[in-house]
Amino acid sequence: MTELLCQSDAYLNEFDASVTAVNGDQVALDRTAFYPRGGGQPSDAGILRVDGESEPYRVLEVKKQAGEVWHRLDRAAAFSLGVRVHGVIDWERRYKLMRTHTALHILCGTIFRDYGVSVTGGDMEPLAARMDFELEHMSATFAQEVEERVNAEVAAARDIRVKILPREEAFKIPDLIRTKINLLPPDIREVRTVEIVGLDLQADGGTHVANTREVGHIKVVGHESKGKINKRLRIAVE
Ligand SMILES: [Zn+2]
Repeated sequence: MTELLCQSDAYLNEFDASVTAVNGDQVALDRTAFYPRGGGQPSDAGILRVDGESEPYRVLEVKKQAGEVWHRLDRAAAFSLGVRVHGVIDWERRYKLMRTHTALHILCGTIFRDYGVSVTGGDMEPLAARMDFELEHMSATFAQEVEERVNAEVAAARDIRVKILPREEAFKIPDLIRTKINLLPPDIREVRTVEIVGLDLQADGGTHVANTREVGHIKVVGHESKGKINKRLRIAVE
């Protein structure tokens, strides 16, 4: 099992680790700060320096498979098990993703609080994202109103708190039940929660900024219908 350092410290951008498996251009590590794709957040990119090799490997994609985190490199690995490596995350890209991911939580928290509407899906890339809502009607006026409300939450400078709770404890939190925590597979013993204090609480594996003011300005750049009770909002983070 790879220890996911980004789960407890989203601001960690360099780390040391050991290679636990090699398969062509893919390597698994005992610990990593690279975020593996999941929950709508794309994987990190960056580099891996290997003991005894002068040329660093570029990390192109990161994914989690059966508890192991696999890093796809720009070329076949010329090293073997147990080798020490030093990883450096492309921080500019990751920090944009943190701001964007938190912007999406501000958006769904605000829309649930003010309109009682739930999210049906979402996706993001650095500084751009979309989110779908269980809504019958969507208008330019609504989009404008939402934009004002989410930026008020950015300005409110709300802290973001991440916790890892035993499953039983997490299941007692009413806010988490609404976000379908009950669909978690029974073998998941711990639940990671991300709380925007006073606004939103969800079970979430993503990396977030520490305070909403770090997000910057959120612009609603589009709205469209994706079905009778499914409407989409597109945002840009500036
Ligand atoms: Zn999320």
